[in-house]
Amino acid sequence: MAEILVLVEHVDGEVKKVTSELLTLARSLGEPSAVFVGAGFDAARDMLAEFGATRVYVAEGSDLTEFVVAPKATVLAQIVTEHSPAAVLLASTAEGKEIAGRLAVRTGSGVLTDAVAIDAELVASQSVFGGSTVVRSSVTHGTPIITVRPNATSPVAAQATAERVDVSVTLSDSDKAARVVDRVVKEKGGRPELTEAAIVVSGGRGTNGDFTVIEALADALHAAVGASRAATDAGWYPHQNQVGQTGKTVSPQLYLASGISGAIQHRAGMQTSKTIVAVNKDSEAPIFELVDFGVIGDLFQVIPQLTAEVVKRKA
Ligand code: FAD
Repeated sequence: MAEILVLVEHVDGEVKKVTSELLTLARSLGEPSAVFVGAGFDAARDMLAEFGATRVYVAEGSDLTEFVVAPKATVLAQIVTEHSPAAVLLASTAEGKEIAGRLAVRTGSGVLTDAVAIDAELVASQSVFGGSTVVRSSVTHGTPIITVRPNATSPVAAQATAERVDVSVTLSDSDKAARVVDRVVKEKGGRPELTEAAIVVSGGRGTNGDFTVIEALADALHAAVGASRAATDAGWYPHQNQVGQTGKTVSPQLYLASGISGAIQHRAGMQTSKTIVAVNKDSEAPIFELVDFGVIGDLFQVIPQLTAEVVKRKA
């Protein structure tokens, strides 16, 4: 069976959910092998096995984490050269895309970014122009290198062995061009990361700056909080929570937009969500053109009732 490499996204061995999604997707394309770069493999191993990694290429050593992305591209390039996998999958994060670009140059391969699906022939689907068009494309040269958006696939476990294969690389001077001088651990909030969350509850100008109802629903659903640019520009919510063309792209199982009109620039960041629900008091709001379920009403009346019902059913 064709080998599909998956670059593991992790922090000191704590594997991010997107890796379980990529392994699940890789299983539909061939035999998944994970590539683990950095420290903490022992903590990651069970999770990689649980999601079907038959083999894990492990490159450990402080050199690999001391410098910004280049060493990861070097590790991947070496494995691609030695093992000729059928494809390499990475997460469509800023880091994943940079590594993908470098790997493509190193291996003389084509790269596709922001895929939302990949079929058995390695044809990737990308959602473009604010989600109004789906492009299907495939790599015609070298090893297909494809970055996949978080939440594009639902992770499904399938136990495998995760056989360890050690990899050692020699870093070049250019790999060492950008050194990490400090790491500041982000204070962990109780909520999941916006781009990784299975559920996102977003608020817009309709909140009038009061995000307490949005946050209460998000917490009841164990969701991340998103915001429209109108809300972030007004200083009502941090810019890092902005969803849209100039914010983050999310593709959760459920996206709930409250008091958001549905401008094309907002849609660009959430249109590939699996199920979209909107609460808006204006029945003509453009957001209703793309929803699966819509509630016409005042969010300050609708959302608290929804939160109460969720809490009640969970109890
Ligand atoms: P509005 O468009 O003002 O809509 C507010 C909605 O709330 C209305 O539909 C109203 O009916 C409803 N409402 C009001 N009160 C209530 C209530 N009590 N209960 C229920 N509903 C209520 N926008 C983004 O979001 N993300 C981006 O990344 C982004 N990038 C941009 C890039 C460029 C280059 C440009 C030009 C614009 C960008 N925008 C972006 C801005 C975008 O065009 C819209 O202005 C913005 O999305 C509007 O935010 P909104 O829907 O919250 O506000």
